[in-house]
Amino acid sequence: MAPTQTILVVEDEQAIASFVAAYLRKDGFAVQITASGREALTLVGSEPPSLVILDLMLPDLDGMEVCRRIRETSTLPVLMLTARDDDLDKIAGLEVGADDYLTKPFNPRELVARVRAILRRGGGKSRPEAGVLTHGDLVLDAGRRECRVGDEEIRLAPKEFDLLWELLDHRGFVLTRDQLLERVWGYTFAGDTRTVDVHVRQLRRKLGDAAPIVTVWGIGYKAGPAPAPAD
Ligand code: CA
Repeated sequence: MAPTQTILVVEDEQAIASFVAAYLRKDGFAVQITASGREALTLVGSEPPSLVILDLMLPDLDGMEVCRRIRETSTLPVLMLTARDDDLDKIAGLEVGADDYLTKPFNPRELVARVRAILRRGGGKSRPEAGVLTHGDLVLDAGRRECRVGDEEIRLAPKEFDLLWELLDHRGFVLTRDQLLERVWGYTFAGDTRTVDVHVRQLRRKLGDAAPIVTVWGIGYKAGPAPAPAD
């Protein structure tokens, strides 16, 4: 039997925290709850859980800041909860490195399905574990989880790395947003395809001219052909 995975639920609304915990426990997870962003960071440092469910609105540190600080030291999966159906919140959450988000009120079954999908991805087979892909000056090293452009290391969030890997690994082929969601995020149901767009935008911002990603209107994205070597 696989070891029990622990989920850390960071939520100050006790009713929601208990409700989420009950569903996760029923599904076989161990659950730890805290109402404090600061305590969450301490727990992540001392006894890292398998995944963090993080509410955006917390009394001490907000969820965005907690996520940003987790990302400084760790690739621990983070699922963000947001109270408002506000695109800006979602996008900001993904930009600080959350793996996924869910808007309240949510269906607890969907929450559990997303947690499973993220964990499957994180420990899963589809995540590249070894090998190197290059595109002009851009080098992706799966073993080291490292992205370089020339001599410069570019820090990518885990999903940004996986998305770029997936595109480069299928260079020249168009992948639809749904295909990318399924391969990179592990969704087997229709997720929010804007997640893909947000991550592509981040990659373009971080990589600048070295970004090999081409938008194929109405379909999805592809990695373009490698540039000719400069002479
Ligand atoms: Ca809250």
